[in-house]
Amino acid sequence: MLLNLAVLFGTLVAMEGVGTLAHKYVMHGWGWWLHRSHHEPHLGVLETNDIYLAALAVIAAALVALGKAGHAPLQWVGGGVAAYAVAYVLAHDGLFHRHWPRAPRPVNRYLKRLYRAHRLHHAVKGRQGGVSFGFFYAPPMPVLKRQLRQLRTPAHGSPTSQTPQP
Ligand SMILES: [Zn+2]
Ligand SMILES: [Zn+2]
Repeated sequence: MLLNLAVLFGTLVAMEGVGTLAHKYVMHGWGWWLHRSHHEPHLGVLETNDIYLAALAVIAAALVALGKAGHAPLQWVGGGVAAYAVAYVLAHDGLFHRHWPRAPRPVNRYLKRLYRAHRLHHAVKGRQGGVSFGFFYAPPMPVLKRQLRQLRTPAHGSPTSQTPQP
């Protein structure tokens, strides 16, 4: 039982790494067409970005089914994925974006830091040049602001912005 809980908790922690990488390289990469709705003004209750959440639910259910079919402890990995999805909805949809009528407020320093970091993520509207792709870990604010400044400087990675020296 203790081992199963360790698997569940380990998965939950690992999912933040997976989520951060997926957000940075998939959702802001080839999967941008689904995530773009989330970086535009919020209109309805659902957005195409929610398909990622649905995919997570399918993966969690599949892992639980595999675990139950004799591939233990995959059901606990599935549980960790499901727990991460629930935590994501609470934090991201509820706390960061206040999509609900009675939305929670960031009450402590950790949640305030996450909230501000996600605001900075949304400070960039396009696919590229964003910062802070995690949902439950955020680098300190000065670090994020410095990253944002560096990404916005025209000299950063843009060959056309080089001014010819006399
Ligand atoms: Zn994003
Ligand atoms: Zn967001």
